Amino acid sequence: MRVESYATLAEAARAMGPDAVFMAGGTLVMRDVNAGTSASRIVRSADPVLTEIRSTGDGVSIGAGVTMAQALANRDLAFLSSVARSVGGPQVRNMATIGGNIFAHHPYGDFAVALLALGARVVLAGQGAAKPLEDVLRERGRSSTSPIIAAIEVPRPRDPRAFAFAKISRIKPKGVSVMSIAAHLPREGGRIRGARIAFGAMGPTPLRATAAERVLEGQSLDAATIARAAQLACDGLDPPTDALASAWYRREVAGTHLKRLLEKMERG
Ligand SMILES: Cc1cc2nc3c(=O)[nH]c(=O)nc-3n(C[C@H](O)[C@H](O)[C@H](O)COP(=O)(O)OP(=O)(O)OC[C@H]3O[C@@H](n4cnc5c(N)ncnc54)[C@H](O)[C@@H]3O)c2cc1C
Repeated sequence: MRVESYATLAEAARAMGPDAVFMAGGTLVMRDVNAGTSASRIVRSADPVLTEIRSTGDGVSIGAGVTMAQALANRDLAFLSSVARSVGGPQVRNMATIGGNIFAHHPYGDFAVALLALGARVVLAGQGAAKPLEDVLRERGRSSTSPIIAAIEVPRPRDPRAFAFAKISRIKPKGVSVMSIAAHLPREGGRIRGARIAFGAMGPTPLRATAAERVLEGQSLDAATIARAAQLACDGLDPPTDALASAWYRREVAGTHLKRLLEKMERG
């Protein structure tokens, strides 16, 4: 295994190829290397862009190499601190990056669930305009060379109570997800405008619960609306069966967990 370190992301992006894997914190890549990955080169970059956290007025631009621990320590990212804290234990959080979380396969990817609910956009190294995280998740693993993420642009919720996250796991505090849920429900005049709900561990990548979003859109967050949204929680989702839970179980409990999260938001 050859390890190549590049000063800039542009050089790292040029060095990528079907035989190479980009490594950030390495919490997953090193596991694959130990298990015998098919890649023969590890590409790294020390570009300072990767660790930059910058306020952009109505949002925050987060370098893809920012770790969960760094996110927890940054006041601009206070709205994401419960999400960062939900990832692994302290040792994992010291290494695990936000960019890596976007490529982490089930049952991982809790941070990406929150980013999806917040409508984050992704800046790819060497490419111009940022693209929706949804597109990156959809295209994940489809080509032999994946692009390198430079930064993630996250809109900051205008009202912190409009965003909520829950991770459902069997072992606390460090268990992996049976599922994770994030909801962003901005309100205007008491009505929800731009509802976004995302689930993790309910499909091959973090996915939006669009049927539940449609129920919430334009409504006030009351018991009847919450009940209707919870009923449709699983529409369009394709939960896996694994050692943590069966697909049947995930389908059975998803609505209840969504209902609890929305009720918590309703109480403020
Ligand atoms: C004990 C343990 C517990 C864990 N618990 C959790 C948990 O609770 N929740 C959770 O979500 N995850 C968990 N993880 C998984 C993992 O630590 C996180 O998902 C982490 O965020 C991955 O980031 P990384 O920097 O370590 O990724 P790496 O291992 O460096 O990379 C992972 C993948 O992402 C790609 N990648 C990394 N950075 C970029 C980039 N900038 N651009 C493009 N591709 C990139 C790599 O090529 C690779 O395919 C756990 C892992 C371990 C070992």
